[in-house]
Amino acid sequence: MKLNVGWFSFTCCEDSTIVFIELMNERYFEWRKLLNFKYFRTLKSNNSLNDLDIAFVEGAISNKKEEETLKKIRENCKKLVAIGSCACTGSPANQRNFFDQVTKKEIQFILDRFDNRELVSPLSDIVKVDDYISGCPMDEKLFLTKLNQYVKEFEIVNA
Ligand code: SF4
Repeated sequence: MKLNVGWFSFTCCEDSTIVFIELMNERYFEWRKLLNFKYFRTLKSNNSLNDLDIAFVEGAISNKKEEETLKKIRENCKKLVAIGSCACTGSPANQRNFFDQVTKKEIQFILDRFDNRELVSPLSDIVKVDDYISGCPMDEKLFLTKLNQYVKEFEIVNA
């Protein structure tokens, strides 16, 4: 049995995804026995959202489509983990929230065109978040500690 994992990126620079890929350089063969990547568009083109044990979600939520997708992810996973500062707190991806009125007016046509939300929000403003891995990008050591913890929690046995 493997841990069914999804990895998602919303509004952000995707640096935590890069950190994860870098970690794979050393851990690929170990993780291959433990993790089943059901959804990870950086790694594969055939992806499924269904029956995830853990959804790792990077980035803040800035438009309606992202909001709907996040809700769908929440419905399809047992544990949802916010990855990196943008997902955990909204910052720094949420800089436009703090623009003055003149600047906000200036960018409104872009927000309208891409169906953006009024505010860029952390995940927890929209869905229940079970755990947080902070950092900008995510704290590598904390991620590895938590991943070990989840593997034990879901009783995944190294085949
Ligand atoms: S938390 Fe930092 S590294 Fe991660 S997506 Fe946001 S800006 Fe990029």
